[in-house]
Amino acid sequence: MRTPIVAGNWKMHPSTLGEATRLASAVREAAGGLPQVTTVVCPPTIWLAEVRRAIEGGRVAVGAQTMHWEDTGAFTGETSPAMLVGLAEYVICGHSERRQYDGETDERVGRKVASAVAHGLRPIAAIGERAEERRAGQTESVIDRQLRAAVAGLEHLAGSGLIVAYEPVWAIGTGDAASGGDAQEAAAQIRDPAGAEEIVILYGGSVTAENAAEFFAEPDIDGALVGGASLRADEFAAILHAAAHD
Ligand code: PEP
Repeated sequence: MRTPIVAGNWKMHPSTLGEATRLASAVREAAGGLPQVTTVVCPPTIWLAEVRRAIEGGRVAVGAQTMHWEDTGAFTGETSPAMLVGLAEYVICGHSERRQYDGETDERVGRKVASAVAHGLRPIAAIGERAEERRAGQTESVIDRQLRAAVAGLEHLAGSGLIVAYEPVWAIGTGDAASGGDAQEAAAQIRDPAGAEEIVILYGGSVTAENAAEFFAEPDIDGALVGGASLRADEFAAILHAAAHD
């Protein structure tokens, strides 16, 4: 049995530390009664320690939104996996916004995933096709290419703690979510390789309190990576309840 995971990707939000810790505390309250779901919040790196304090004693885990793969070095502005240990348990690798704006390549995502696992962090590898790739009928080949690259540095899938988030780029932040059926089709493809039975697969892309249950009803979708809706405590709480099937 895979435990459902719902992770909130706060991106570069909210605008103040006070709002961030209030949001974290509200998520802690909401997650308290839902032991059947693993709840993760991924705040901006600079607030990881404060958010960690705000959720202390609760059932919420903390994730980073990205990291470098090296432990130290001349990488201005970066955060290393060794620096995240103790602050975060999860790390998103290869979010499409980083692929689009920060030159995150398939190869770098693979290095980050392997480095995260080596440091005892659980990577959330984000993959998914762009709108033009979907129109060109390339969804399957894009998923295949990005997934292979993401796991290239792992010796075994089993025991790695890998989480894969299928996030079609055209669905992120647009209000135009994939259908449950389309997301399931992608998730089944991700589940296919040997050893993938234990991999937790999330759907991400305009998940809301209204549509979340549709994704969680699918057999290969174990949770969600939530952007915009994770910034509203009530809505995020409703998504957690949907994942708990209560
Ligand atoms: C995301 O940022 O990973 C995401 C899925 O965003 P949204 O839920 O806002 O589409």
